[in-house]
Amino acid sequence: PFATYAELIREQARTRPGHPALIQDRRSVSFATLDAMMDRVAATLQRDGIRPTEAVAICAGASLEYAAVFLGALRAGVAVAPLAPSSTPQSLADMAANAEAELMFVDAATARELAAVRADIKARFIALDDSTGGEAFSRWLAPAGSVPTPVQVRPEWPFNIIYSSGTTGTPKGIVQPHGMRWSHVQRARRQGYGPGSVTVIATPLYSNTTLVSFFPTVTLGGTVVLMAKFDAAKYLALAEKHRATHTMLVPVQYQRLMAHPDFDRHDLSSFRMKLCTSAPFPAALKADILKRWPGGLVEYYGMTEGGGTCILAAHEHPDKLATVGTPAEGHDMRLIDEAGHEVARGEIGEVVGHSPAMMSGYHRQPDKTREAEWYAPDGKRFIRTGDVGRFDEDGFLTLMDRKKDMVISGGFNVYPSDLEAVLIQHPAVSEAAVVGVASERWGETPVAFVTLRVGAGSLCVPGNPLRGQATAKCTTDELREWANAQLGKTQRLAAVEIVDALPRSAIGKILKRELRDSFAPAEP
Ligand code: ATP
Ligand code: MG
Repeated sequence: PFATYAELIREQARTRPGHPALIQDRRSVSFATLDAMMDRVAATLQRDGIRPTEAVAICAGASLEYAAVFLGALRAGVAVAPLAPSSTPQSLADMAANAEAELMFVDAATARELAAVRADIKARFIALDDSTGGEAFSRWLAPAGSVPTPVQVRPEWPFNIIYSSGTTGTPKGIVQPHGMRWSHVQRARRQGYGPGSVTVIATPLYSNTTLVSFFPTVTLGGTVVLMAKFDAAKYLALAEKHRATHTMLVPVQYQRLMAHPDFDRHDLSSFRMKLCTSAPFPAALKADILKRWPGGLVEYYGMTEGGGTCILAAHEHPDKLATVGTPAEGHDMRLIDEAGHEVARGEIGEVVGHSPAMMSGYHRQPDKTREAEWYAPDGKRFIRTGDVGRFDEDGFLTLMDRKKDMVISGGFNVYPSDLEAVLIQHPAVSEAAVVGVASERWGETPVAFVTLRVGAGSLCVPGNPLRGQATAKCTTDELREWANAQLGKTQRLAAVEIVDALPRSAIGKILKRELRDSFAPAEP
C-alpha cells in the first residue's frame, strides 16, 4: 500500500530514533531529530498559509537544512521545486515564477547570485544558513515541538517539480507525483537499501539523479552522507570512513575516481551497490570499476520525466557493458521512426518509454507536454526521450545518441558515440566529445574535442612545459589520422581539438552546444 515519504521517516524515527539519517562534515542528524525538524517545517508552512499541492522553491547548496525543508514540505503535502544554483539568474527567476512559489529557500551564495533579479521574484527569501540572504531560517522556523495539522497526501499530488537542464530551450518543470517517487522506493528495497545502508551522495540535491538514491536511503532507514562538492580524494576518504554500502555517481565522477592515484589503496569492501545514471557510461570504465571496486554496479538509463527506465546490472552481464540494459519491471520501452511508427526489431529509432509512474506533465506547459508524448495504437501513453537507440536480439538497449546531437554528413547519419568510442581507445586520450559543425561540402561534418591523459607520454598534456602550438598541432593531426583509419568513410573527422576540460553541466553532462559554438574552423 502507498505510504508517503514523510510517513516512512516517521516510522524510522519510532523504531530507531538515534540512528543517523544524515551526515555532513562534522554534523549528524538522527531520525528523531529529522522527524521533529520535518514537523516544524510542515507546521511553519501551514502557519504561512502554504496549502497542499502548492510549491515552495529551494535554490541552495546541499545541506542538512535543505534536506529537512524538502522532507518537511512533503509532510504538509507541499511540493518542492529544487532549482539548480548554476542556472542563470534570469532563468532562476523564470523557474520560480513557473512554480508559483511564495517561498524560496536560499543560502548566502545563491542570494548573491539572485540579487540582480531579486525584484522579478515574488517569493519571500528564507536563508537556510541564517545569512543575510533572506529571513533567517532559524527565526522563520516555528518553535521546537511544533506539529502540523495532519495532511492526507494523495499519490497523484505533486511531490516535486524538477526543472530540466534546458539544453534545448527554456527549462521545463517536470511534475513528479508522490506515487512516482513511491515506486522508486519499491525498486530500492530490491537493491538492498535498508536500515544498514550508508549512501554517499556527491551530486547536487536538485537533480533527479541524486534524489532517486537520496530518498530511498533515508525512507528505508539508512544513512546519507552528503558531500556538497565532489572531490575524488575526499570522496574516497568519506566512503572508507563511513563504510559506505551504496552510492550514486555520474560517469565523469567514476572516471575521476578510477583515475585517482590512491584509488587502490582505499578499503571499499563495504560497498554493496554502486549506481550510475545521467550520461553515457563507457563500457571500458564499467569494466574497470567491476575489476577494482567491490560490490555490484547498476546503470540506469532514464529521464526525469519518468518515461521508462532501462537497467543494466553490469556485474551480472559482463558481456553487455556497451548497452544500458533492459527495461525495468513493468516498464515498456519502444523505438519509433520520424513518422511516429514503431521500427522493426534490430532497427534504430527514437526511444519512447512508459512506466507505471510517469510525470503528470510539464508544469503550466500543456503544449510542451503534448510534444513530449507518444501514444501507441492501443492508446498507451509514452514519453519521448529524444534519444536514439537499438535493441539487440537479447532485448538489451544500445544508445547511439541524443537525436539533436546526431550529425548528418553527406546525407548519412553519423552517431558521435561511435566516433567517441574509437577516440577513447587511443592511449593518450582521456575523454572525447564529437559534435557536428557546418560544412560546405557535407552539410555537416564531425569534429572531436578530446582531453588527454596525464602522463600518457604526450607532449600536449596540460602542465607539460614542452606543450606548444607546434607539438599540439602535430598531435591533433596524428590523432585525427589514427581515428579516421578506423572509421567508416562517412564518419571521418574533419578535425580534432585538444582541450584542458570538456564543458559540463553541474551534474556532469557534456554541453555539446557549447562545443559546437566554440569551434573555429581552420583558415583555408
Ligand atoms: P533536457 O531535457 O532539459 O535537455 P536532460 O534530458 O539532460 O535535460 P534528464 O532528464 O536528467 O535531463 O536526463 C535524461 C537524459 O540523460 C536522457 O534522455 C539521456 O539522454 C541521458 N541519459 C540518462 N541516463 C543515461 C545513460 N545511462 N546513458 C546514456 N545517457 C543517459
Ligand atoms: Mg530530457
